[in-house]
Amino acid sequence: MIDRDKLYIDGAWVPSTGTSTIDVINSTTEEVMGKIPEGTAEDVDKAVAAAKKAFPAWAKTSVEERGKFIQRITEGLQARMGDIAQVVAQEVGMPLNLSTMIQAGLPVMTFGSIQQILSTFEFEETIGNSLVVKEPVGVVGAITPWNYPLHQIALKVAPALAAGNTVVLKPSEVAPLNAFILADVIDEVGLPAGVFNLVTGVGPVVGEAIAKHPDVDMVSFTGSTRAGKRVAELGAQSVKRIALELGGKSPNIILDDADLSKAVPAGVGGAFLNSGQTCTALTRMIVPRSKLAEVEQLAVQAAETYTPGDPFEATTRLGPLVSAAQQERVRNYINKGVEEGAKLLTGGPEQPEGLDKGYFVRPTVFSDVRNDMTIAQEEIFGPVLSIIPVDSEEEAIEVANDTIYGLAGAVWAGEKDKAQEVARQIRTGMVDVNGGGFNPMAPFGGFKQSGRGREAGKYGLEEFLQTKSMQL
Ligand code: NDP
Repeated sequence: MIDRDKLYIDGAWVPSTGTSTIDVINSTTEEVMGKIPEGTAEDVDKAVAAAKKAFPAWAKTSVEERGKFIQRITEGLQARMGDIAQVVAQEVGMPLNLSTMIQAGLPVMTFGSIQQILSTFEFEETIGNSLVVKEPVGVVGAITPWNYPLHQIALKVAPALAAGNTVVLKPSEVAPLNAFILADVIDEVGLPAGVFNLVTGVGPVVGEAIAKHPDVDMVSFTGSTRAGKRVAELGAQSVKRIALELGGKSPNIILDDADLSKAVPAGVGGAFLNSGQTCTALTRMIVPRSKLAEVEQLAVQAAETYTPGDPFEATTRLGPLVSAAQQERVRNYINKGVEEGAKLLTGGPEQPEGLDKGYFVRPTVFSDVRNDMTIAQEEIFGPVLSIIPVDSEEEAIEVANDTIYGLAGAVWAGEKDKAQEVARQIRTGMVDVNGGGFNPMAPFGGFKQSGRGREAGKYGLEEFLQTKSMQL
């Protein structure tokens, strides 16, 4: 049982002004694994005041000095990788080996990469008689989701601090314990008081208090499109900068000359990572109708290797979903797919055999999906893949783009050039070409209702800077 009873404000662990707590649930055992304070709007006021007070001195520190702090945080996180991997595997349910690599590994990589980028980043340039300088935005409110909890936090906190901003973080109430580990590390490295603050609680209270706070200069939000719209609405009242990383319904176009034996299993993997609770999940596999039977057979074969089980067992490839609510939501979508006439190839809404406890959902594949069906339009956030047959390359592109979202996508073709030509026509912020691997330094973010702004690498640092021109 991990009992965290304080918030981190102005360089100290302090009690919340409220008295309520939130239980953190282990997604495999369904038991309470921890407790955190349910913060209040007053806690946000205190944290924002501390961040505002700390900003001028922190903004003035040299790039080298900030780089040293970032390096120490990187080292601190690296030393705690085991704890982080374990805690996220329990909170979110990702199998431990993947949790170690992704949930604990990516935050370390993000902090490390930001330190490197800082050392070469051009903060100043001359244009004619103007000196153009990049300056921090001010107090940054960071609001994050549960699916890759510390990764999403690192993508905001590392560049925001490196750029000279101060931060108030509100992590997801569903998977918050990892954020306390980061706060412990930050406390240990002796970051000046008020530069980083942690206020836990629920979105409609703590999240909204941050979004509408007049002294918060920027909100960086990752989560659902629904909550992102609300944050943008509230933030607009004080014209603060708003960065949004939202949902997706990402297409995976497989052209008729692609190597199906590679493309289909890779596509299934791209849909099922983290039990499908991935914003970039490739949930719509768009394939030539003439190849449908072969694709179906390969997809079922691949899906059935994702045996659901305990994330702490070495053989498990698919953990539970994060919560009872999420499990219920995904099962409803599966039922909806059947009702609307999609062909259920494998999986289904029932609890997987032999697993009485835990928020598990069977790896599920639908075929004969039409793009206007609910399962092809709405983000499911579970291990559910829709195969959509089409009759031409033009139709494949049209179907790929026929969505409110524009986060990620993939294209497979016999030739890489051909795949790239199609990739250019997909209206999403990211596209994998013939299985191109995840690049943690590449700009990450969406078109359309998938968001605004970019995270990671050099673009992720720029997100937290504003531009001033001085005419000389
Ligand atoms: P939510 O939008 O429910 O929550 C995200 C965060 O916003 C949480 O901290 C939540 O608080 C908070 N929040 C909720 N309502 C409000 C509000 N009215 N005002 C301010 N803050 C609020 O998303 P989930 O946590 O369920 O995460 C899943 C979603 O995140 C998916 O849609 C997914 O696609 C998206 N996502 C996008 C990514 C991207 O980079 N584009 C990456 C990862 C996920 P609380 O703790 O109470 O839930």
